Amino acid sequence: MADKVKVAMIQLCGCSGCHISLLDLHDKLLEVLPNLEIVYAPIVADPKEIPDGIDVALLEGGVRNEHDEHLVHEFREKAKIVIAWGTCAAYGGIPGLGNLYTKEELINRVYSTESTDNPGTIPSEEIPPLEDYVKPIPDVIKVDYIIPGCPPTPDMIASAIVALLNGEEPKFSTKIVCDE
Ligand code: SF4
Repeated sequence: MADKVKVAMIQLCGCSGCHISLLDLHDKLLEVLPNLEIVYAPIVADPKEIPDGIDVALLEGGVRNEHDEHLVHEFREKAKIVIAWGTCAAYGGIPGLGNLYTKEELINRVYSTESTDNPGTIPSEEIPPLEDYVKPIPDVIKVDYIIPGCPPTPDMIASAIVALLNGEEPKFSTKIVCDE
């Protein structure tokens, strides 16, 4: 990739921890940033539309609702390389525990507990409809790479970004638990 690599990232059904792990690159982030153009990142800005011509899309989190599903398909159409970023995106992760319950049970629990204002009032017009289950991204679209881990280690993210900048295949270590 000769020019700056256009990178997009988004949080779906995740906790932002994968994004934080990216920030944990510290000085290494300064080394790679000049070669990147971040074209879409709602966690730092509020872009309205996913742009065309994305080189690398980093998708954090699984697919929980219809809006998530729409977004991952749009990223697949607009990005050359799609990466399932972290365990939630790759396998369902912690949000996947929601699959132990029906969506009706989850909604009732969230909106009808003792600590909820207006218990029993479900803001159905303000939130995207839930899918029946949390789905890992590879169950919805083809992904090019998985960066595993909860979150992936900063080194793993850095090595993937550097490899892609150099037009090489990312290689991942077998150590996928962040204990730094
Ligand atoms: Fe958060 Fe872990 Fe899921 Fe990343 S993989 S979004 S750190 S729970």
